[in-house]
Amino acid sequence: MIKDESIEKIIDESQQGSALAMTGNEKNTRKLYIESYGCQMNFSDSEIVASILANEGFNTTQDLAEADLVLVNTCSIREKAEQTVRKRLEKFNAVKKTNPGMKVGVLGCMAERLKSKFLEEEKIVDMVVGPDAYKDLPNLIQEIDEGRNAVNVILSKDETYGDVAPVRLNSNGVTAFVSITRGCDNMCTFCVVPFTRGRERSRDPQSILEEVNDLWERGFKEVTLLGQNVDSYLWYGGGLKKDYDKASEMQKATSVNFAKLLELVAQAQPKMRIRFSTSNPQDMTLDVIESMAKYDNICKYIHLPVQSGSNRILKAMNRLHTREEYFELIDNIRRIIPDCAISQDMITGFPTETEEDHQDTLSLMEYVKYDFGFMFAYSERPGTLAERKMEDDVPEETKKRRLREIIDLQQKHGLYRTQQHVGKVEEVLIEGPSKKSDAHWMGRNSQNTVVVFPKENFQIGDFVDVKINKCTSATLIGEAVGYSKNN
Ligand code: SAM
Repeated sequence: MIKDESIEKIIDESQQGSALAMTGNEKNTRKLYIESYGCQMNFSDSEIVASILANEGFNTTQDLAEADLVLVNTCSIREKAEQTVRKRLEKFNAVKKTNPGMKVGVLGCMAERLKSKFLEEEKIVDMVVGPDAYKDLPNLIQEIDEGRNAVNVILSKDETYGDVAPVRLNSNGVTAFVSITRGCDNMCTFCVVPFTRGRERSRDPQSILEEVNDLWERGFKEVTLLGQNVDSYLWYGGGLKKDYDKASEMQKATSVNFAKLLELVAQAQPKMRIRFSTSNPQDMTLDVIESMAKYDNICKYIHLPVQSGSNRILKAMNRLHTREEYFELIDNIRRIIPDCAISQDMITGFPTETEEDHQDTLSLMEYVKYDFGFMFAYSERPGTLAERKMEDDVPEETKKRRLREIIDLQQKHGLYRTQQHVGKVEEVLIEGPSKKSDAHWMGRNSQNTVVVFPKENFQIGDFVDVKINKCTSATLIGEAVGYSKNN
């Protein structure tokens, strides 16, 4: 996958595994060290966990040596993600030798996938907690305090943590994530998420609006609405998406879909930037694109994973759309929002993928010319339909070569896209100092492209109009011409 500042919104490689910390409460006496891996949902979940534990007497620390409780929020999406976590557990084991009172808990998707097997395989683990069981943490911690191992991996039909106000960990005070759905019902054959995060359920729009309003009050300027498949958001009073058919006429009449939710959020805070991730092509409808076009504060950027350009592979992946339907969606986006940026996720070497299928992926990319991309070699995941029914038959070297080819093409398209911004004046929200130069700010334009420019007297959180002078394949370089009208 391409690593640069522009992709960090979704999977921040530099943040993977970093210890997250928040301002402490003086009364709290115990120390929590929490590390997160994987998707933004996990980072967002860690904020919920820290919030629950703040009420249980824990302040966060970034110093592993002084921790009373170490939690690692894990990812199962690819085998490599799991290997990284196992290596970290070895490190925790070494620390535990000098601090035997320290307890270790595994949270998230790997906890859900391996359940109590974790306690047998990784002897240092004291506690295993799945993504829907964080409210049970106070009880589970009491168990481990009393010397027993503790496990809760029960998946829920209605847990959305809508009533937990997350604390913001390692926050820049400007951008925040707000989760709107949990779980996923799509059953893509390669994907472990439906098994680790359970069935899809949506959060009460009222609690989403309260969280967004609270963030605005606290000075935040941008929110990203998070879900595995945001377009599938549907609130009809609670319950699983799959049970919507059983809802009453009244519930159906007052239900809120994703297009409506976007409008509610955009109207509630007209000066706040609204982003969302992830969109699934099979569920993205025209009314979502129209809502985006209608409100200036909804950013003009769609992360629209396609995974493959071949109809045969899309079918084998159980992605419920064709290449042609995807093109139609892209054409509609470009027609309704001409300046909309689009990014992809792609998997190379899915079982049975031929050179012809791979060429279809390259030609699909050529058609769309994505602004960004997140590209992966297929990794077989235990329990998925692909693992049960298909042989992982594309040789590793072939997967890697195809991956290289799509990454190279993406880089070319990235440059083509960034070049379209040169010479324009674009609104940028300042997020912090540039990683490469302390004399420059780093922020993003509406299309989610990173923009770097001299600091002058501007501050973090300012909306600034920036004249774009030059670019790389992922970054725009410019100079401020003044505050934007949104400031
Ligand atoms: N829910 C989103 C969707 O359906 O498009 C994203 C799910 S996942 C957290 C993020 C990305 O990881 C996927 O879009 C896919 O490209 C990649 N991924 C998922 N399972 C994979 C696997 N078994 N091997 C390689 N990449 C995988």
